[in-house]
Amino acid sequence: MSKDTSLILVVEDEASIREMLRYSLSRAGFAVQEAADARSAQDMINQTPPDLILLDWMLPGISGVDLAQKIRQTARTRDLPIIMLTARGEEEHKLRGLEVGADDYITKPFSTQELIARIKAVLRRSGGNDTRATLQAGELNLDTVGHRVTIKDKLLELGPTEFRLLHFFMSHADRVFSRGQLLDQVWGNTIYIEERTVDVHIRRLRKVLEEYGCDRYVQTVRGSGYRFSQQV
Ligand code: CA
Repeated sequence: MSKDTSLILVVEDEASIREMLRYSLSRAGFAVQEAADARSAQDMINQTPPDLILLDWMLPGISGVDLAQKIRQTARTRDLPIIMLTARGEEEHKLRGLEVGADDYITKPFSTQELIARIKAVLRRSGGNDTRATLQAGELNLDTVGHRVTIKDKLLELGPTEFRLLHFFMSHADRVFSRGQLLDQVWGNTIYIEERTVDVHIRRLRKVLEEYGCDRYVQTVRGSGYRFSQQV
């Protein structure tokens, strides 16, 4: 079922920006809901899940990035598209925002046209559910919904941690992560685990990939950590 009008939830504590966004988005044909903080945004999401959230990074109380993380961790809202708003000079937020699962980010001040183009692009991408469901690297395929990994249609036997590790790597290809960062991202930072645990699971992952010559994708970066890349 396709809806004619997409519902955008604007989460922004500054009333003037919220008003400007409501005005521009309504003019562009979107239905708009507004929240001034994360808590009321959460209530609105629970009542009527929007088609996309425009989420300010700096919010009083629960921050935008914490809300984004919560949305991603909740099964019902896991695939809800999120565009983060950040202020100029807070570029480091961009990476963190994308890491917690924002689909895009936009830096203030921005032009209305740019914002609307970004919103439409994200909605287009999320509309077809297949685009988000499969990650690819060479002949390696990871089905994020069915939790299956295949190479040339052969199913790989991966443990849950190896699956999460590979999933994280494939969605952040060509970037180096320290063991600590991998622990935070893949294991979650609520429990204490030694860093060498990462090495153990990297070894297991490589062993499974080795049979297909894909273990070279999981690269050790001396003194830094690990990187997933198709380039040597
Ligand atoms: Ca703000």
